[in-house]
Amino acid sequence: MRVFADYHTHTRFSHGKGTVMDNVRAAARKGLEAVAITDHGPANLFGLGVRSLAAFDDIAEEVEKARAAFPGVRVLMGVEANIIDTHGGLDVPADVLERMNIVLAGHHLMVRGRTVSDSWKLAGRNFVARWSRSLAERARVDNTKSLIEAVRRNRVDVVTHPGLHVSIDTEELARECARVGTALEINAKHAHLDVEFVKVAARQGASFCIDSDAHSPDQVGEFGRALEVAIRAGLDPERIINVRA
Ligand SMILES: [Zn+2]
Ligand SMILES: [Zn+2]
Repeated sequence: MRVFADYHTHTRFSHGKGTVMDNVRAAARKGLEAVAITDHGPANLFGLGVRSLAAFDDIAEEVEKARAAFPGVRVLMGVEANIIDTHGGLDVPADVLERMNIVLAGHHLMVRGRTVSDSWKLAGRNFVARWSRSLAERARVDNTKSLIEAVRRNRVDVVTHPGLHVSIDTEELARECARVGTALEINAKHAHLDVEFVKVAARQGASFCIDSDAHSPDQVGEFGRALEVAIRAGLDPERIINVRA
């Protein structure tokens, strides 16, 4: 299997270390055909996300410059949007998503929910769930519903690190992703996705995307563990949107 594109990389516009140009240069060096710039949406706490939606205009400008400097690499303008309510609402509005070449969406805990109740359901409750079985069960239902609604209601190309720090019903999510044509990510940075998850999701007909989730330029195109999980799960390369056999 050869991964020809890295569709999940961060820059200084969120909490990555390099510039857009640095990530694209790294992609060119590693022989990637394509790379996406996917900084976090604005709802992340502690400065983990972009400062405001206006940042996407600045990123788009830098993407243009990187395209001119590295014509051999297809540079995708993108975002890793945050889920901010249990109805699958995102922190990036539809008109901004429309301008993106690729849209990733993920459930992050360090996020300001739309309301206090959303913050509790998406973040707070997941932190305390380990001490209460009933809270854990309710969290799992809402975590799964939030992701399913997110891919149903928005244009989402890839769900990032499904189930990272949160409990979800993999089967249900994968079934919906297969239906709407959203890929599930196998993330190289977070070692949470095991072979079993991939097997369960694959049985529902879902497609996958192998990403580095690079937070510094040297991590761009580093797929090591994710590729290993895909191989061990016996995934058909045709089911992975950025892989060629
Ligand atoms: Zn993420
Ligand atoms: Zn990320």
